[in-house]
Amino acid sequence: MPTQRRTPARPAPAGATAPEAATARPAAAKAAAPARSQAGKAAPARPPLKLRRRAADILAALEDAYPDARTELEFSTPFELLVATVLSAQATDVSVNAATPALFRAYPDALALSRATPEDVEGYIRTIGLYRGKARNLVALAGLLIERHAGEVPNDFGAVVALPGAGRKTANVVLSNAYGYPAIAVDTHVGRLARRMGLSAHTNPDRVEVDLQALFPRERWVFLHHALILHGRRVCNARRPLCSACTLSHLCPKLEVVNSA
Ligand code: SF4
Repeated sequence: MPTQRRTPARPAPAGATAPEAATARPAAAKAAAPARSQAGKAAPARPPLKLRRRAADILAALEDAYPDARTELEFSTPFELLVATVLSAQATDVSVNAATPALFRAYPDALALSRATPEDVEGYIRTIGLYRGKARNLVALAGLLIERHAGEVPNDFGAVVALPGAGRKTANVVLSNAYGYPAIAVDTHVGRLARRMGLSAHTNPDRVEVDLQALFPRERWVFLHHALILHGRRVCNARRPLCSACTLSHLCPKLEVVNSA
């Protein structure tokens, strides 16, 4: 596992609920129509007790298996984390970590990156998938950071989502790892495992996120995200999950699994 360079996390503001508040959507696929909160927003329906108990057992098993689960992206500032996360879309963390040291030396902050051309940046990230589009987004993103946020990565979910190349997943990764927000970033691993384990029936990552939020305690959301990613990479891989060796096997209905080892 690559050595992670981290910056001390600034705590989320008291009562911060930005990531989940931004999407008050119906909860589990099979849940009844959601009730209305006092604010008039759709409140997620509470999942059935049996499912909540199984989720608690899954969380305990993941804590045993991956007690130190954390992001494998290497970064030392929120800016570096944001750039690395944008680069990691449809690419491996290993490939991103191989490219970012030279990239960060050349462009250590938003101001330096905003003055680059996409062609300049391409030279540093050519080994990463979709590098042309990502180079364009990174330069535009840096320009917006300078223009709107004094060159800093905003500690605000809506502001990060609005950056070029950043979406909901990126915002959740950045806010949780850099600023300590409770968040579940749903990538391909998290979505696949949630469906196989019967924790969500959705393919839309936003819906999966809400289903998982309803099942797990907020203070374990960040851990859950990282643990599911590790489990997806090491055991429950996309093509042939290793169900016979999986420590979660007794808790997992193995939905959609057609070819396991
Ligand atoms: S039992 Fe199989 S499908 Fe379920 S989590 Fe483990 S590897 Fe994945």
